[in-house]
Amino acid sequence: MNWRLEIAVQTPAHSALGDVLSYTHPSPVAPGALVRVPLGRREVLGVVWSAQPAGADDGAAALELKPVGAVLDALPPLGAAWRDLVAFAARYYQRSLGEIALAALPPQLRDLSAVQLARRLKRQAAPAAAAASACVPALTPEQAQALARYETESGPFLLFGSTGSGKTEVYLQAVAALLEREPQAQALVMVPEINLTPQLEARFKDRFGSGAVVSLHSGMTNPQRLASWLAAHGATARIVLGTRMAVFASMPALKLIVVDEEHDPSYKQQEGARYSARDLAVWRGRREGAKVMLGSATPSLESWHQSRPAQGEDGGGRYARLAMPSRIGTAALPMVRLVDMGLQPPRTVLSAALLDAIGQRVARGEQSMVFLNRRGYAPVLACGDCDWKSECPHCSAFRVFHKIDRTLRCHHCGFTERVPRACPACGNPDIAPVGRGTERLEEHLGELFAGVRRPDGSPVRIARIDADSTRRQGALESQLAAVHAGEIDVLVGTQMIAKGHDFRRITLVAAANPDAALFSSDFRAPERLFGLLMQSAGRAGRDAAYLSAQGATAEMWVQTHHPRHPLFAALRRHDYPAFAQRELQERAAAGMPPFAFQALLRADARTQEAAQAFLNAASAAAEGLEGAQHVTRYSAVPHAIQRVANVERAQLLVESASRRALQRLLAAWQPLLHGLRKAPEGKGVIRWLVDVDPQSI
Ligand code: ADP
Ligand code: ZN
Ligand code: ZN
Repeated sequence: MNWRLEIAVQTPAHSALGDVLSYTHPSPVAPGALVRVPLGRREVLGVVWSAQPAGADDGAAALELKPVGAVLDALPPLGAAWRDLVAFAARYYQRSLGEIALAALPPQLRDLSAVQLARRLKRQAAPAAAAASACVPALTPEQAQALARYETESGPFLLFGSTGSGKTEVYLQAVAALLEREPQAQALVMVPEINLTPQLEARFKDRFGSGAVVSLHSGMTNPQRLASWLAAHGATARIVLGTRMAVFASMPALKLIVVDEEHDPSYKQQEGARYSARDLAVWRGRREGAKVMLGSATPSLESWHQSRPAQGEDGGGRYARLAMPSRIGTAALPMVRLVDMGLQPPRTVLSAALLDAIGQRVARGEQSMVFLNRRGYAPVLACGDCDWKSECPHCSAFRVFHKIDRTLRCHHCGFTERVPRACPACGNPDIAPVGRGTERLEEHLGELFAGVRRPDGSPVRIARIDADSTRRQGALESQLAAVHAGEIDVLVGTQMIAKGHDFRRITLVAAANPDAALFSSDFRAPERLFGLLMQSAGRAGRDAAYLSAQGATAEMWVQTHHPRHPLFAALRRHDYPAFAQRELQERAAAGMPPFAFQALLRADARTQEAAQAFLNAASAAAEGLEGAQHVTRYSAVPHAIQRVANVERAQLLVESASRRALQRLLAAWQPLLHGLRKAPEGKGVIRWLVDVDPQSI
């Protein structure tokens, strides 16, 4: 007898083929098994979704089905919980099952034959027990209380802990307690950025032994990823550390999920299937009976709104909030100083008071950090005689001047040219940089500190860390190592340096020019800015012993033209709850998330008219669909950066107070959108996609 198998394979993103394809096989195959199947002229990897005997009623259609090429039966099938996660993500984010399922598997698996895989598995390590080691610090009362509640309540938990309050130690001990009770259990620990994984990995390996811990992130080679994935799937690894992609790791014994820095936008995938790994982690935890702990000093307003202060207390939310307001040791949070840039001489970049404070630290051998959210030398190059500016010919954006190699680079499409010798429009040789990026700030600091000497008489050492300085493999690691080793006095960088790093000798952090975010059109910009400033403040004065030995105080400096803005008032007091309360009131009044649920329909086309016509036709087509009466559909508008690489971009917002109604509408809309692409309104549309719970609109 033959069996009919429904198999998820990687089909094009918006394929009309549906979610699964049918194949035949002479024997039943367990759901979750990996198979190789013919697709077009290729043989591809697939995941069996279901199997049933090919009945007589299948008739002629069954005869047409192609047979499965090979079953990779050396590998245990992917579990029902994993398949449910994939199915939920596909449904919720409006993608195909095969796309999500196959993207969740390590790329190398696609290329291995059944025989190669079986051989590879023979080399796989035996299950590693966690080794539980000597140097475990005694918990602070706040940490102990957080852990006690974690142990007795069911969660999900929001660990609301100041920077340096010892959140990581709480994660470590939660994992340790789990493995003590259930030595075969597994824990998933997620961080937002690849460059934060090495430090975390070191701490976990130190605590649990290197055999028990594996990493999963896109910075690994394919063989490394395969090895980690197999260790997670085979339950030989106890702990998986990773970035957002790790949320899809197959972990049959999963009992705990930690999402560190849960507010971080990098948990939202920004291309293809635009999933939120944080939200999926919460869903997965509930499905699998695993406890979920979200951690942050500045939670997303969504999570904050969902959380209640203490057991039994009202707050409306279903997350249990565990608060750790104090820093470890006697270290206080840094004193926040606001510099009113309106009172400085014109064109001041770094105020005299700030330079003086940095100078004092240099003299004492301490470190300072200045960040600016703009890389390159200057955001624009302009002619003083005519109105030529360094616009990108392919995008609605300026090309950034990089002095290091004298290029103009578009940060959107990558278009790069040598800086022209004279103005291309009028020939004026005097074209000048306008504004300031990290390169120019680094140069400026170099000039200002040129005559200053360190305690031993040597010159001041200034370094820069941003996407440009760290392009080379291993560059970031060596630059961070230099900071940790005390070989740098003043560190300049983008937000890359503001996140997560456990610097010990930095006693001053400065935000050079954060004002743009105060008046951005993106309603989440103030939330991001507040988080970023709190995070960067968290880099200063982390080591209480060092501070007192130095007799130093930690300071966070903010240069602004709006020192009386309420955001800064809350920052001064390190008062996230006050900031959140005010922001949530505004969001509630305006009916914005977390009080509403949103999705964006985006379209790219050769012309803006074509993109908008498609979107508006799509909106008209949604009229009367299930859920539509509870969903507001706005008009199509150009994207904030309207043109990138000669492609016009537009978007249409749909919004509802009911997540269910929005989901129902999106599900009913999807097939119409596929059809519309072929209609006259869809002419000229290059691609379209739905972004559910978009992070920026
Ligand atoms: P967070 O993740 O909240 O920023 P960390 O967990 O990195 O904070 O802790 C900050 C520093 O304090 C780290 O160097 C950590 O080793 C140390 N630490 C954490 N908990 C304790 C404790 N209970 N006793 C002593 N040191 C601790
Ligand atoms: Zn000119
Ligand atoms: Zn461009």
